[in-house]
Amino acid sequence: MQPAVAESSLTPSVTEFIAARRKMLIDGKWVEAASGKTFTTVNPATEEVLAEVPAGDKEDVDRAVRAARRAFESGPWRRMTASERGRALWKLADLIEARTEEFAQLETLDNGKPLTVARAADIPLVVDHFRYYAGWATKVEGETIPVSVPGMFTYTLREPVGVVGQIIPWNFPLLMAAWKLGAALACGNTVVLKPAEQTPLSALRLGELLDEAGFPPGVVNIVTGFGETAGAAITVHPDVDKVAFTGSTEVGKTIMQQAAGTLKRVSLELGGKSPNIVFADADLDSAAEGAAAAIYFNHGQCCCAGSRLFIEDKVYDRVMPKLIEYSEQIQVGPGLDPKTQMGPLVSSEQLERVSGYLASGKKEGAKVATGGGRPKGLDRGYFVSPTVFTDVKPEMKVVGEEIFGPVVCAIPFRDPEDVVRAGNETTYGLAAAVWTRDIQKAHRAAQLLKAGTVWINCYNAFDASAPFGGYKQSGFGREMGKAALELYTQIKTVWVNVGA
Ligand code: ADP
Repeated sequence: MQPAVAESSLTPSVTEFIAARRKMLIDGKWVEAASGKTFTTVNPATEEVLAEVPAGDKEDVDRAVRAARRAFESGPWRRMTASERGRALWKLADLIEARTEEFAQLETLDNGKPLTVARAADIPLVVDHFRYYAGWATKVEGETIPVSVPGMFTYTLREPVGVVGQIIPWNFPLLMAAWKLGAALACGNTVVLKPAEQTPLSALRLGELLDEAGFPPGVVNIVTGFGETAGAAITVHPDVDKVAFTGSTEVGKTIMQQAAGTLKRVSLELGGKSPNIVFADADLDSAAEGAAAAIYFNHGQCCCAGSRLFIEDKVYDRVMPKLIEYSEQIQVGPGLDPKTQMGPLVSSEQLERVSGYLASGKKEGAKVATGGGRPKGLDRGYFVSPTVFTDVKPEMKVVGEEIFGPVVCAIPFRDPEDVVRAGNETTYGLAAAVWTRDIQKAHRAAQLLKAGTVWINCYNAFDASAPFGGYKQSGFGREMGKAALELYTQIKTVWVNVGA
């Protein structure tokens, strides 16, 4: 039996929050689903029911969209100055920061990630993200255009897109909500946000802070529910001007098709199968540690996980033992346990999916260098051991498909000129990394890699100011940084006849 982890260590506000049946936020009010239906979210470390939330559907989405439309066209939001919008975002950041422990606990309970990580990474990044976009609210500017038509003064206005539907995944529940909300609100849009059905709790808690932060009713609506129902209702709704989605490539394709009916703007941040390339001249200790972090951070449930590890053959036998050692040292366990470095996968479906890939890799002839199944001593919860596959071939499913779990394929390479081509041999293009001391080689690889982010001698570095998004089937549109303003604004050109 695994040791019971002290749920008694939860702060009372968290215990209360999960004990009460949750409602969703529409037009500033907490409401049940119109159908009265609910669903439960499960604690992935214990497999026990955690909380009950409304199963929103078409009618609820429609109410939320109408509220968002009203708030956009005629509410106080419309009259708020850019400075006031910025202050509301900053205040929201302050309110979240003051509740860091509470939010971190909710993330751990709902998603499974270690509390130490939620506290040190997820929540501070959320706070930073809202502060960063608070600053942008007053800097969304148009331009004056020196047109060659006599007597004309021409300028552009950069206006909000309108009502924005935002559909987010479960891997970084609050952070993904922040990535979506920060830029959209800074630009003056109104929002219908749908958290993932696996992890709705932190977004609902955030919803409770919006009023105090200064966002008028209807500016942010939060509809909980499933993808095929609530999510699809957002993407087909004729009065939603734009849909922003983060999730799997498969669902991204569906969303694009669904959105085509009303030609709404779409931005997609999708899956990946990112190459992580270690050249022989790299600092091998850092590269091996970096390779472990690249795949194991968030239990491999990262769209940018470094899941294809290319190692120059001259140093393969030096890097691999270190990678295996790091893999075996990782403390896997319930996220609330302070010793835990890797928690469970988010759901039984995810465990099944990752286990399916482990079986497929073995069946297709890949060798398990470490891991490959459930960690010993953990008989409850959706746990998988950190796993390294070797002796893989490009045609194997574990090499070609996104696993979204703590599973890396190690691939030796001989020709440093050819490895970038091999790295690019994927339908995805979200991220890539190179490890080398040769700056020419590093920058050349960065130019040639077909990925939205390239890390050199590091991995998983993120900042609110640095754009993130995909090439190829990893999607389009860039979140974070100034780039995200493009997603949430449209340009209006104004011609003024000032006389000859
Ligand atoms: P994963 O496969 O990693 O679980 P998904 O891409 O299925 O992630 O889900 C990401 C988000 O997309 C979730 O909020 C989910 O509810 C939503 N979603 C899933 N299917 C659809 C759909 N057909 N239309 C709109 N949203 C969807």
